[in-house]
Amino acid sequence: MPSIANMFHVEHYKASDHYTKCWRYLERRFINPKIPSMSVESANGAIVDLAIIGGGPTGLFGAFYAGLRGMSVKIIDSLEILGGQLTTLYPEKDIYDVAGFSQVLAKDLARNLIEQAGQYKPSICLGERVEALKREGESGLFSLHTKTKVHRARAVLIAGGMGAFEPKTLPLPNAPRYVGHGLHYFVNDLQGFRDKRVLIVGGGDSAVDWANMVSPLAAATTLIHRRDGFRAHEQSVERMRNGVTKILTFFELKQIAGGVQIEEDVIYDNRTKEEHTLKVDAVLVNIGFSNSLGPIKDWGLEIEGGSIKVDPMMQTNIPGIFAAGDIAVFPGKLKLIATGFGEACIAVNFAKHLLDPKANIFPGHSSNMKR
Ligand code: FAD
Repeated sequence: MPSIANMFHVEHYKASDHYTKCWRYLERRFINPKIPSMSVESANGAIVDLAIIGGGPTGLFGAFYAGLRGMSVKIIDSLEILGGQLTTLYPEKDIYDVAGFSQVLAKDLARNLIEQAGQYKPSICLGERVEALKREGESGLFSLHTKTKVHRARAVLIAGGMGAFEPKTLPLPNAPRYVGHGLHYFVNDLQGFRDKRVLIVGGGDSAVDWANMVSPLAAATTLIHRRDGFRAHEQSVERMRNGVTKILTFFELKQIAGGVQIEEDVIYDNRTKEEHTLKVDAVLVNIGFSNSLGPIKDWGLEIEGGSIKVDPMMQTNIPGIFAAGDIAVFPGKLKLIATGFGEACIAVNFAKHLLDPKANIFPGHSSNMKR
């Protein structure tokens, strides 16, 4: 199987090294252990035909389809990982209603979509939430503003699902200052935990996966969870229980403390309120994700019940901006992966025709293509 980073053009304002780590994490978790080389685009990147907001199933299939139609593509997602709800909310659940699969694990479907989209080498910008979307007066180009960059595109496909996902953060007043200094909401570089004393907070798939990944390298791994039931795949929980991770159920985090780096945590038993102090070097938190339409509702788009209204061509009220997948609404709308694929396909074909009126709307059949 080709490595995903070789298939994509990964772009980010941060050092390329950071993204090598992200891809390594993604590959370890979803693809295979091969660590590839990759290319990194310069600061503001090139103008693309189609910018896709959202790297969930709809955005990924849209990226594939736009590539098939010869368009240059960039996917921007607020998360550090592709796959949208598939990889964030239910990676270990089986899906039964995607055409061509009688049963497929969500994370495997995401992996296949990533592989399919990767054939056309879209640029990928992860960890960037699109805050503003504007049309530039003279050029007619769209500019997509994130906190760190401005991306430019001739047309835009909003495949933002339920809105930008962000990891829920610790409700402790000093937590923000420890981010990057021992406090992590994503695991980007496993080696960073080698010989460290690690505390993992959470009881879902990610927290349990992290425990299984980190514990073989770390000096000590403790996982705390506020209940005694885990919301993770049974086999992963079993693996964790059989490993070296110290599991403390009914425990919660009360305090983190240290100098520049985290040095210790106070945890407590939520049944007895008894407190314990742990010496730690790193805290990994996965207590869920929050999502909201956020800035999208301020972009001048027609919104109905928290979704973006589209016409039969999946075009919004602003020409050149299309929407598809969970975020789009029209009469008869069904929020399913299968319908998102079809909507992405329609949106891309009309976007192609809009940018190049000589191009047919109907793309022909891919089975007739010569590669
Ligand atoms: P999403 O998967 O939500 O992806 C949208 C992406 O856009 C996210 O990654 C988000 O971070 C990003 N984004 C949003 N706004 C911004 C912004 N401003 N800037 C940058 N990035 C942004 N469907 C089925 O068909 N079959 C099933 O069996 C099924 N099971 C499900 C089980 C569960 C537990 C859940 C929660 C959903 C299930 N679904 C199922 C629904 C399915 O997952 C969704 O329909 C599908 O994920 C929608 O895909 P999408 O690409 O439109 O949006």
